[in-house]
Amino acid sequence: MPETIYDVAIIGGGPGGYTAAIRAGQLGLKTCLIDKDPRLGGTCLHVGCIPTKALLFHAEVYDHMKSAKEYGIEGLGAGTLNWKTIQDRKAAIVTKHTKGLDFLMKKNKVTVVRGFGALTGPAKGGVHTVDITGEGGAKSQVQAKNLILATGSYARMLPGLQADDRILTNIEVLSLGAIPKSMIIIGSGAVGVEFASLYRSFGAEVTIIEMLPRIVPVEDEEVSKELLRDFKKKGITSFVNTKVDKVEKTKAGVVVHFTPQGEAQQKLEAEKVLVAVGRGPNTEKVGLEKLPGIKTERGYVHVNEWMETGEKTIYAVGDIVAGYPQLAHSGAMCGIVAVTRIAGKPCKPVNKNRIPGCTYCEPQIGSVGLTEAKAKELGMSVKIGKFPFTANSKASIIDQHEGFIKVVADAKYGEILGVHIIGPLATELIAESVAVMELEGTVEDLMFTVHAHPTVSEGMLDAFSAVEGKAINF
Ligand SMILES: Cc1cc2nc3c(=O)[nH]c(=O)nc-3n(C[C@H](O)[C@H](O)[C@H](O)COP(=O)(O)OP(=O)(O)OC[C@H]3O[C@@H](n4cnc5c(N)ncnc54)[C@H](O)[C@@H]3O)c2cc1C
Repeated sequence: MPETIYDVAIIGGGPGGYTAAIRAGQLGLKTCLIDKDPRLGGTCLHVGCIPTKALLFHAEVYDHMKSAKEYGIEGLGAGTLNWKTIQDRKAAIVTKHTKGLDFLMKKNKVTVVRGFGALTGPAKGGVHTVDITGEGGAKSQVQAKNLILATGSYARMLPGLQADDRILTNIEVLSLGAIPKSMIIIGSGAVGVEFASLYRSFGAEVTIIEMLPRIVPVEDEEVSKELLRDFKKKGITSFVNTKVDKVEKTKAGVVVHFTPQGEAQQKLEAEKVLVAVGRGPNTEKVGLEKLPGIKTERGYVHVNEWMETGEKTIYAVGDIVAGYPQLAHSGAMCGIVAVTRIAGKPCKPVNKNRIPGCTYCEPQIGSVGLTEAKAKELGMSVKIGKFPFTANSKASIIDQHEGFIKVVADAKYGEILGVHIIGPLATELIAESVAVMELEGTVEDLMFTVHAHPTVSEGMLDAFSAVEGKAINF
């Protein structure tokens, strides 16, 4: 039996788990973080948020270079891409932040245990025991009064397919040996459109195939329409309402057979196919079945507002939780809520309606709260304010005119129900709306909030003012 009984042991060192561990340490809890991988950071740091955004930054710089002459910078042209340098810089960023996490664990006195963690059954005398299988099958155990499950998610594959050098998930697509000449992307959620955007900027022929009626299907309908239009201008072909029938490997690449609704089957050949059809929870082999109180649905764990499962003192956060978006910042905040609750300190639950969603394709998307359609479906009476970036002077200066800001507000009281941005800096701009919604500000509050000029963010002032038909610049 281990000598130490931790206050909390966390299984999974991604953003949900490591954030919980750091805050637990800050709160004075004796904390253990267990991860099966040698490097902390999870999907987000190693094969998700960070490497994709690094590549998207390179794509953005390259896109600017293509316009150098237009900006009065002669003699440069677009230049030639050095893929190895790009990949090396991406890897260096990941390594730097992995080391940062190791430092933060030490700083906050978190014990890190390397190995696969599995629950052993109900707590005995208020103490849970986790079986650890370490390197080379070495067995050990960790004991704690509270457990947090944060085991994250995996990329779903289409039936019958397996990831390899041509059929890619988010893992393989991040470390290709060369920029492919062509890529078919199945699925147009955040992951699909981010890769579509960056590989198109790097010169690949990109085709998106989406089963649902529109790309970025969780976003406001007008955002989807705008992105479709902008992607078309960029040279990305998108098929919506389209079912993939078969993916076959050829000598040189892959052939995808697909059927757009109401049309005949078609086929398209490409060097690579990226399968970006969503993510499933890593909850197999973790021993959940040994604890009947933990309720799951298709592998996702049910929790209450404090992230507690049906089994007392066992919590779950991050991508494995039912009903929360699979986003790093969602998991991280849920981790904070769980450990603050464990420490018995004041805290408030995460309001799912105030979790921003950010997609870093070009143009970017940032959104929070209800879409116009959802608000109406809920029977709400809404007023819409919309402001196009064409009327924003800073957008002209930075040459990024695509898109708009759309505010969905309650018609009577001016409560902000949702904000949907597609365009320059959308992923940064959305923060203001999240804060205002959290503080329960109204359209009127925003209409009298001074925004600096010239900034892209003063577009927010115009969008909120547009709810009352009083945008200054449009
Ligand atoms: C391509 C891509 C881009 C993304 N971009 C963004 C973005 O820009 N912004 C954003 O908010 N989100 C983004 N996401 C989503 C984000 O990565 C996830 O929401 C986030 O990583 C989930 O965090 P988590 O802590 O739940 O799990 P994970 O990050 O998946 O971490 C889980 C950890 O648990 C460990 N583990 C699993 N099982 C066990 C076990 N039994 N024992 C021990 N350890 C275990 C794993 O090794 C891993 O380290 C992106 C995802 C992808 C795929």
